[in-house]
Amino acid sequence: MNDPTEWTQAKTREVLTQIRNRYSVGDSLSVEDQALYEQILERHPNAVQKRGDGISKIRVVVNRCGHEAFTITRLDGTEAVAGMAGILRKRVWSLREQLTRACRAAIEPSRLAYKRAHPKDRCALCGKRTAHMHVDHAPPNTFKVIEQGWYDSSLTEATLEPEHFHQDPHAPLRFAEEGVAADFREYHDVRARLRTLCRSCNLSGSSD
Ligand SMILES: [Zn+2]
Repeated sequence: MNDPTEWTQAKTREVLTQIRNRYSVGDSLSVEDQALYEQILERHPNAVQKRGDGISKIRVVVNRCGHEAFTITRLDGTEAVAGMAGILRKRVWSLREQLTRACRAAIEPSRLAYKRAHPKDRCALCGKRTAHMHVDHAPPNTFKVIEQGWYDSSLTEATLEPEHFHQDPHAPLRFAEEGVAADFREYHDVRARLRTLCRSCNLSGSSD
């Protein structure tokens, strides 16, 4: 499960601690760790506000309570602090966000099928083959573009209901009806051009 928004609290805590321990107070995160942190930050209840118009760098700092935390410097120079506690607080997902997560779960079979059919692919961008390779959507038909297209053509905000989603705290969120998942999967599969990326190209490009 590579999407940090699907991780358990324990796994999130572990990965954040690993990141933090790679640095001294005052250090900025590497490009790779920053990309990972930005994905994890999506769990934060105020992720949108923390992120602002974009993040230029992230530093390890000590907050008022004496705990190590992360300071985000946004592209416009303003700063926000996002510590472990905020990120670990459970975020309440909007219905539109739940739709995105259900759509991701719906295409998991397509992703796995592609992975099985291309066991030896090298990274489409840098040509490397590493231990953990990712299945990615080649632009312009990124996952977000395809998902938004399907939403625009078949749904509106008014038709989204909590009952459309299967809420199981121990499993990734998914569509309650397999027919809906299959509908999105078909829409996705004819548009997606999947490719294989290495971990660092996947994290730095994040086209997905
Ligand atoms: Zn690569």
